[in-house]
Amino acid sequence: MQKEKLYGKTLNELIAVAKRIGLPGFAAKQIADWLYKKEIKTIGEMTNLSKRMRDVLSEEYEIGLSDPESASVSKDGTKKYLFKVLKDKFIETAYIPEEDRATICVSSQAGCKMGCIFCMTGKQGFQGNLSSDEILNQFRSLPEFKELTNMVYMGMGEPLDNITEVLKSLDIMTSTWGYGWSPTRITVSTVGLVGVLKEFLAKTKCHLAVSLHSPFDEERRKLMPIQRTNTVKEILDIIRDFDINNQRRVSFEYILFDGMNDTQRHVKEIARILNGIKCRINIIRFHPIPGSDSHSPDLKTTISFKEALSAKGIVTTLRASRGVDIQAACGLLSTLELNRK
Ligand code: SF4
Repeated sequence: MQKEKLYGKTLNELIAVAKRIGLPGFAAKQIADWLYKKEIKTIGEMTNLSKRMRDVLSEEYEIGLSDPESASVSKDGTKKYLFKVLKDKFIETAYIPEEDRATICVSSQAGCKMGCIFCMTGKQGFQGNLSSDEILNQFRSLPEFKELTNMVYMGMGEPLDNITEVLKSLDIMTSTWGYGWSPTRITVSTVGLVGVLKEFLAKTKCHLAVSLHSPFDEERRKLMPIQRTNTVKEILDIIRDFDINNQRRVSFEYILFDGMNDTQRHVKEIARILNGIKCRINIIRFHPIPGSDSHSPDLKTTISFKEALSAKGIVTTLRASRGVDIQAACGLLSTLELNRK
């Protein structure tokens, strides 16, 4: 019999488990402690539960952690791990060490429905939603788990298209009975699904990163087909309605494509549409993917684009390209693995 995983369950779900199999109410909190505060891999190690309680629990449940299948290491220290999910699919998880922090970039889906033309994951199509345990297993089973200081949901998939499991994973990450992380250490990236963006903003205090890539509807639609039904204006209206306090950060991701979205006309329009929103822009140089003839502008153009935005009063950063030598563009490694299988 396939056992159900305990890892990835919220405290309320653990309370329901305890009740169903006849364990006392306090056992749920003890199980949560073992799952999220102590580093155990088997139910047998939950030594403050009686032997009988552990036996009853083990009949139907397991912890459910799984190690990565493989790893690639870049010369800049970035590592990319492949995890097996949904029985036979592969997702990517990146570990990005910097001077003063260590960030994990997790996937929330295998493949993706959004079809952004610059993304290899988009080209894979959709293969399934990850469960909260599969999202968090990337964190817990990362060999560098203990070094991690930040977490970004910027790997494969659109997090808001898997909102239930993503919210569960965030609940576990930020609750005192879970990992107890401050939500300000976590950023969730989205193309901006307007139907669920409000829910995300209302139910968590994590940072939000919206993929912008162009301030012009027609142009953004060519890059990101989702723009057809989720316009930048609708996304910005929702963000404007929320009280983004000093703690929470809203950022806009902007991949620069040479001769396409890197002009002064773009700078002017970005400044116009973001007027009144407390935010920052992260400029990202394009990681080339097979089958695409787009490329990044040269460094001089990139820097002058950044400076032009800064001159408009928008906090703008240029994100360093990491792991270029290990197929760091999202979806490349898992595509290779899928093709190999
Ligand atoms: S960029 Fe993100 S949302 Fe777009 S296809 Fe890739 S994974 Fe999906």
